[in-house]
Order: sequence, then C-alpha cells, then structure tokens
Amino acid sequence: MLDPDTPPPIRPELAALPGYEPVEPVAALAQRLALDPATVLKLDANENPFGTPAAVQQAIAEAGSYALYPDPGQRELREALGLHLNVDAGRIVAGAGSDELIDLTLRALATPDQRVLICPPTFGMYGFLCDLHGIERDEVERKADFSLDLDAVLAAVTDRTALILLASPNNPTGNALSDGELSALLATGATVVLDEAYAEFAGRTYVSWVMEHPRLIVLRTFSKWAGLAGLRVGFGVFPPSVAEVLMSIKQPYNVNLAGEVAALAALAHADEYGVQIEALVAVRNDLAARMAEFAWIHPAPSDANFLLCRVDGETDGTHSAGAALRDAFAQEGVFVRYFDSPERLRGYIRISVPRPDQLEDLMERLKRAAIVAGLV
Ligand SMILES: *Cc1c(COP(=O)(O)O)cnc(C)c1O
Repeated sequence: MLDPDTPPPIRPELAALPGYEPVEPVAALAQRLALDPATVLKLDANENPFGTPAAVQQAIAEAGSYALYPDPGQRELREALGLHLNVDAGRIVAGAGSDELIDLTLRALATPDQRVLICPPTFGMYGFLCDLHGIERDEVERKADFSLDLDAVLAAVTDRTALILLASPNNPTGNALSDGELSALLATGATVVLDEAYAEFAGRTYVSWVMEHPRLIVLRTFSKWAGLAGLRVGFGVFPPSVAEVLMSIKQPYNVNLAGEVAALAALAHADEYGVQIEALVAVRNDLAARMAEFAWIHPAPSDANFLLCRVDGETDGTHSAGAALRDAFAQEGVFVRYFDSPERLRGYIRISVPRPDQLEDLMERLKRAAIVAGLV
C-alpha cells in the first residue's frame, strides 16, 4: 500500500528470518565486561592469532592510493591463485569471503523448487543463506562422533537435490571428510560444494579432484590461515561453465582493492605462513593433550585450528555446563564460541587455537574458569 507516512513494508519471508548470529567484536566484548582489551584472548572465530604478517601489511600500505576500482575480472588474483593451486585461472572465482561464494553458488545452481542437503552440526551460514534464498533443505544429522552418516546422506539424495553443502574440516566439529566418503557422494551425481575454509590446517585439499569431477566445487578462504578475515577474500574452484556464470552475476567489484593486494602478498609469503600453520597445528595437539588431564572437558579430534570441547558438569538446569564455562571464561577475558542451537551442542564450547606463547596463559585461565563454573 502506498502511504507517505509509514516506512515501506518489508518482504514478509525476510522480516521473519532470525538472521545470522555473528561473533561480537573484541572491543565490544571487552567493554561489556570492563576488561582491558590488551589482555583479552579472542578465541571465538578461528582467526589467525599471529595477526596479519608485516610483509602483507606493508604491501597494503605501499599500494598507496585506493582511488580506483578493483579489476572486476580479478585477472591478477585469479592468475596467482591458479599458480598457487595448480588450476586453470578460468576455473577460479574470488569473493568477498567464501561466504559470498556460497551465496553466489546457491543463486546460480539452486532453484526454489529444489533442495539443498546439509549435515548438522555444521556452519550456520548454510542454513542462513538457504533461508535467505527461500531454498528448502534436507538436514542429515552427523553421527554421535560427528562423522558423516553416509548411508543416511546417500538415502536422502533425490533428483531434487541441487547441492550437497559440506565443510571439511567441518566447523564446528573439526573433523574432515575421507576420500571414500567424497567419492560416494560424487557418485550420486549430486553437486557437492566442499567448503575447505580450514584445509591449510588439515594439510590436504580436494582442489585437484575438481578437474576429474564436473559436479565438484571446492571453496577456500584467506580468512583463517592468512590473517585476513577483516579484508574478506575467499576463492573457489569450479567447473569452467559455473565459474563463467559466477563471474557474470557477482557484484563487479566484490573483492576490494586492499583485499586483492593483501591476498596477492599472502600468496607471495607462503613460507612464513607455513611456519605459522605448523605452529598452530602443534598448539592444537598440545592443547588437546593438556585437556585430556581434566575429567570435565573433552575435545573432539580436530584437523582444523579449533577444538570442539564437550564440557561435563552439574548445572542448575537452566544453564548447560558449556554455557557456564563460556561465561566464566569471559570473566577471565577469554572469548570462546558457544552454540545455543542446535540443542545437541549446548554442552560444548569451541576454542580457536592460540599462539604458542599464549598457551600457558590460556591453561591457567581455563583452570580458574572451571572452578568459577563449578566444574571442579
Ligand atoms: C569461517 C568459515 C567460512 C567463512 O569464510 P570467509 O571467507 O571469511 O567468508 C566459510 N566456511 C566455514 C566452514 C567457515 O568456518
């Protein structure tokens, strides 16, 4: 209805959406709890705790002027990524984070009368974007150990399955898919979107499989390993026909110039990152081993840069032990990820791996938080 005195009506299906639940910025968290931001350990978003390498910061500064638009064809970046991945640049599309590439892939490959298959617990972005695009989804729960329920997934695939959206290593559970599982999924003929945001920590990628399997898409990102989450650069390897369409339907300037400069510099400093990644994998394994000494916290095996930990303890019933530890940790200046939903994750917290020099401090704060939370 046209009415100059009221705000415009909103599409009802969008107004009703819960929205994506993002992590709070560290300054807001610190302020809310009256903490010194310098002492905060932000371990809630799987970011690189080493920060952005000086060489990459320098490249961003030296590029100088950002007055001009970036290249909508992403030529230099796609070429460099092609060399990095040993893939033809024509198969690559970069996005404002891999989140944008999930979004574009859904738009290009899934119609509202089709369905998307996901395997919870998994990355919340999948459900959020399906909702946004009005695409219904089939959810096949992971098994008790968070491995894929392959038989149930295979049984759930139908002619209407537009995409199977899977993360490997999976967020928040940390476990990776096996060759056999991926082969079985591809054999169904459904298109598999494999989200490899944490591939660098797992030390393996299925990018090379994209050339053999026309229904496989692999997504990667600079957010987790490269210390560039704030600049939003992701990339995907697609069948050439899909890459071509995504290049034509994306926002022309989706990857900003600073992001492009930083991504190119990151690719040029692979050695430095290799050292960081190795250190983080070692800290992840140390942290899991140290936790094994406690009866009240149980990390699941992880191939990523975080640990999903089951927290055991008596609670008052309104609060899970996971939420109690999350709150006590926050009072200690340690921020971790807690999931209110799904129900299945209420007894868990997800901790991103800190730098090696932060591990002792984290262990001390964890022990104090456990006492406050009533776990010991
Ligand atoms: C963090 C994350 C992403 C998002 O990466 P961006 O490139 O920052 O958009 C994608 N998938 C999974 C599974 C993630 O955990």
